[in-house]
Amino acid sequence: MSEVGGFECRLLPAGEAVSLAAVCRVTGDQILVTLENGTTSAFDLSTLVADPHMPGAVRDFSLPGGDRLLVRDSKLSALLDASPSLASRLESSVKLIALSLVLLPILGWLFIDKGIPLAAKPLALMVPDSVVERVSKELLETVVLEATSPSELSPVQVQIVESAKREISQQRRFNGNIEVLVRKHSRLGANAVALPHGAILLTDDLITLISDLPTDQRVEVLLSVIYHEIGHIDKKHGIQSLVQSLGLYIAVSMLLGDVSGVVEVAATMGIAPVLMAYSQEMELQADAYAVCELIRNGQSAERLAVALRLITSPKREAAGSSLMSTHPSLFERLEQINALATDRGITELTRDHPGVTGC
Ligand SMILES: [Zn+2]
Repeated sequence: MSEVGGFECRLLPAGEAVSLAAVCRVTGDQILVTLENGTTSAFDLSTLVADPHMPGAVRDFSLPGGDRLLVRDSKLSALLDASPSLASRLESSVKLIALSLVLLPILGWLFIDKGIPLAAKPLALMVPDSVVERVSKELLETVVLEATSPSELSPVQVQIVESAKREISQQRRFNGNIEVLVRKHSRLGANAVALPHGAILLTDDLITLISDLPTDQRVEVLLSVIYHEIGHIDKKHGIQSLVQSLGLYIAVSMLLGDVSGVVEVAATMGIAPVLMAYSQEMELQADAYAVCELIRNGQSAERLAVALRLITSPKREAAGSSLMSTHPSLFERLEQINALATDRGITELTRDHPGVTGC
């Protein structure tokens, strides 16, 4: 520690209103304060607590015992800032500043990447069903129907859809809550979208692909797609996806029952990023749901595998016509269907994907 010769300072004794003129001197690790009456007190520099440094202003140091030292000497400030308090150490450390410049964006990214998805599920489950229904119906009216046009399917293709719809309406456990719509959309490609309140949108392109299959497979393959979408509805994936895509603001808005704000934000983003941004885990859960429904209805789980192969064929992926590219790999999904359908590998499956359960 360097030496700083005598300089004027003032000592403000604890509880007093008037400070006393003094001469301060730094020697070694100590500061000596000599009052006009000749008494000298010594304090370890490390025990001085400085107020934030404002250049030009008198600096106020707290001394052990409650006395305060008032100094207008920049040399002392420089000396003390070499061994400052924790707060000023943090402020003045270039390394720490650099580190925080790197760390803050990472922490922010981690919050968005991990924190929001983690929070999305519990928050989504807290949103009252009545609000979910209102948001979903508004989304259907203002986002989905606006972005699509009436279906232009042939009578044969319409027949496939009608047969599948009849089958769904006859299944009592859906309580008539599932509404299947077919619409034309140039960019969604062969796809299906589930809205949280129970509407399922199928695209003309999807039905066209399915209508190329052998006659005896068509309805069941379409049913497997619809079951997959019902799986998303059953597990409330739509609302979770909304929260993940649009942020926690949306969750709070929905918890407060503010539907219009949610729909407004969703409308500016479009259908795909909002209702189709499902995680890999969600897709596997929806697949598992579909397989269980197929088996329950005496249909082959292989129908879902056919549907997935159709939708994710390399030709369609390359053409960018399918949003299924955000889904887990086709291989992984087919493996799971196989495991669920045959009971083989089910232990392994549920261990790797705890959210996925057997039928
Ligand atoms: Zn899906």
